[in-house]
Amino acid sequence: MSVSGLANQQESGIQTDWHHSLAEAIRTPAELFQTLRLEHLSSQFSHEAANEFPLMVPRSFLARMQPGDPTDPLLRQVLPLNYELRPVDGFAADAVSDSSFRTAPGLLHKYKGRALMIAAGSCAVNCRYCFRRHYPYGDEPRRLDDWEPALNQLRADSSISEVLLSGGDPLMLTDHRLRQLIEHLESVPHLKRLRIHSRLPVVLPDRVTNALLQLLTESRLTPIMVIHSNHAAEVADDCAVALRRLVRSGITVLNQAVLLRGVNDSVEALTNLSESLINLGVMPYYLHQLDRVAGTAHFEVDPTVGRQLISELRARLPGYAVPRYVQEFPGEAHKTIIE
Ligand code: SF4
Repeated sequence: MSVSGLANQQESGIQTDWHHSLAEAIRTPAELFQTLRLEHLSSQFSHEAANEFPLMVPRSFLARMQPGDPTDPLLRQVLPLNYELRPVDGFAADAVSDSSFRTAPGLLHKYKGRALMIAAGSCAVNCRYCFRRHYPYGDEPRRLDDWEPALNQLRADSSISEVLLSGGDPLMLTDHRLRQLIEHLESVPHLKRLRIHSRLPVVLPDRVTNALLQLLTESRLTPIMVIHSNHAAEVADDCAVALRRLVRSGITVLNQAVLLRGVNDSVEALTNLSESLINLGVMPYYLHQLDRVAGTAHFEVDPTVGRQLISELRARLPGYAVPRYVQEFPGEAHKTIIE
């Protein structure tokens, strides 16, 4: 089906089954390179890197890459390369010290007033620069009963008013599982807001179903969706349709991006990303300095360059369209603005 056909289907409320789209995701280099007409790149593909962190690309995301372009910014985000295997000083498995803030199975409590649940251990895409690419997801709750210690902590701490569902990607949960989890959270009186951190609206837009919108908008908790896109080419076609549906349903939608070498480290790329998001009603929220996670050093951009880019963005865009350039320093009370 053409992208416009898919968009028309979704606009009219007839949706493709997202489970099917997920099952159809590309997992082999041969199919990736053949579809992009880049067979000559196959020698660059690192099977060793893919053994550590598999290749995974939904077809919708693939459709937004430019065939024949080995430097495509979306391709760079998902292509396993040998660079990932090189140890680099200062880059570690748990760069943001998630393990020190794990106060119950599946629960990370870093900042005052909010807590984060590792609601799912998988994603629809495997981003090579992922800050949780080494996270021990196997140790986290999967059955609803396993969440009881985390829920007990949330019940006991009335200073927490917001829960973040993260992962992995929390929208990998079925609607049934997501509803069960949300119902448990709704039963905690002092919780007011539910923040969902998800890349699925971008990489697997089929996931934005009517049922999901209903589930989120009917909740007692105020929903906030934080999507993750790094380049304007990502927020196009069927992704743009999904984002509009989220926004029009009344959900606050924010974007976080990561500053990535060869992907968005130019003022043009960042300007286009912000403008594309704003045009869809999505607010640019954070531009993250890369977390120094083992295997990701080749994506790092010097913060001096990042500051310069933000300064140039300010000269081009209205203030609300300039994301906050931030870095996470473990132990700090909040993310640090490094402008
Ligand atoms: S979607 Fe997010 S959590 Fe999943 S691989 Fe990408 S960056 Fe990591």
